[in-house]
Amino acid sequence: MKVLKFGGTSVGSIENMNAVMDLITNGEKKLVVLSAMSGTTNALVEIADYLDKKNKDVARTQTHKLEKKYKEIVSGLFKDQDRIKEGGKVIKKSFDAIRACISKGYSDAAEKEILAQGELISTALFTQLMLENGYNTKLLPALDFMRIDSEKAADLRAIRENIQEVLDKAGDADYYITQGFICRNADGEIDNLQRGGSDYTASLIGAAIKSKEVQIWTDIDGFHNNDPRFVENTKKIEQLSFNEAAELAYFGAKILHPQTVLPAKLENIPVRLKNTMNPTDSGTLITADSSGEGIKAVAAKDGITAIKIRSYRMLMAYGFLKSIFEVFESFKTPIDMISTSEVAVSITIDNTKRLDLILKELKQFGEVEVDQDQSIICIVGDIIAEEKGFAAKVFNALEGIPIRMISYGGSRYNISVLVPTIQKQRTLQALSKNLLK
Ligand code: ADP
Ligand code: ASP
Ligand code: MG
Repeated sequence: MKVLKFGGTSVGSIENMNAVMDLITNGEKKLVVLSAMSGTTNALVEIADYLDKKNKDVARTQTHKLEKKYKEIVSGLFKDQDRIKEGGKVIKKSFDAIRACISKGYSDAAEKEILAQGELISTALFTQLMLENGYNTKLLPALDFMRIDSEKAADLRAIRENIQEVLDKAGDADYYITQGFICRNADGEIDNLQRGGSDYTASLIGAAIKSKEVQIWTDIDGFHNNDPRFVENTKKIEQLSFNEAAELAYFGAKILHPQTVLPAKLENIPVRLKNTMNPTDSGTLITADSSGEGIKAVAAKDGITAIKIRSYRMLMAYGFLKSIFEVFESFKTPIDMISTSEVAVSITIDNTKRLDLILKELKQFGEVEVDQDQSIICIVGDIIAEEKGFAAKVFNALEGIPIRMISYGGSRYNISVLVPTIQKQRTLQALSKNLLK
């Protein structure tokens, strides 16, 4: 059974929901993962933020505004009075849940519960639409099978066991619909896979049921060689290897949630990126096969903090790097880039939750310098690091751009440079102009 995921824009209007229905109903059995309608998760984040700031009144007004929008959608989406009634119940249940969270006041759990309503609504309404049109459809509650563990990592073993039970319980259907993004955590509470997480849901389900293919349907014709939000005339890539796609997604290509590729790679399941607005286009295929040598694409990851630790004791000393790494390990903060000299080491992180504590610890090893608002620009392709003259090509392409760090040779798929975020667009444009020709 194939797994197809449709993103926020793909289900973002009555017209688009109908288009998705027409697109999936070709008689082939499938499991369909849906995001919230576009704009909804942002609106829910805003409501939770007002609640966090103890501004219950505005949280309530915003909730009312969003509910009104959904009431209009329900009356336009269905033809049958019974379905309109059913849709009304769906909306009421979710908005009652949000109002109950607001009344109780902010907590981490309340925020997660509020954020979950977008996918709960879109899937329930879409299932009703499919049923109204006579399709044999079942809604699978993601909260009954999607799990993360105490480290917040996806628990594929649990997902595998749970989804089988959920499918058996649901019984036979031609089309199974489920929510992207949402899950339960190790304490059984509602949680999520982070923003953009519906892609990850699809690949986790794909791996759990050993799907033939995972398709990510979105609002663009596939993976482009540069970020179309910042660079003009980017080009679609026909094929990428799992390794290349994983690097690009991890380093900021928004089209895929950073972790989407890993479960698919684990089970060797092809991932196809497709455009809901142009379904006949071949899209981009991601498989284990090499896509040929050379540079494929670049991506940028924002919100990076660079930390430099300068120690005179590092000269000829061993154990220095170990001590530095232990600090990051003890504060469960992953390191992205690293570059060293004889007396200093520079490290980048994107999670600054524990930055103050990390800096305090690091200061015992030497002078510490911090640069915030940096971006990692990641250049991805196969064997690029081994290609003769490749480094020169990259540096020529980046002439005039202030580079804070370089990571080269760490993997055969990637070269990364760190630049201040204000230089990001210029850097991406220079790479398109000079390197991705
Ligand atoms: P969805 O809501 O369907 O998940 P997203 O907005 O998360 O869609 O991802 C699709 C968007 O990703 C595109 O519209 C595009 O602006 C952006 N994007 C960023 N980098 C790339 C890239 N390298 N290739 C294609 N799209 C990209
Ligand atoms: N609705 C969620 C978000 O906006 C998940 C997703 O769209 O993938 O982040
Ligand atoms: Mg997305």
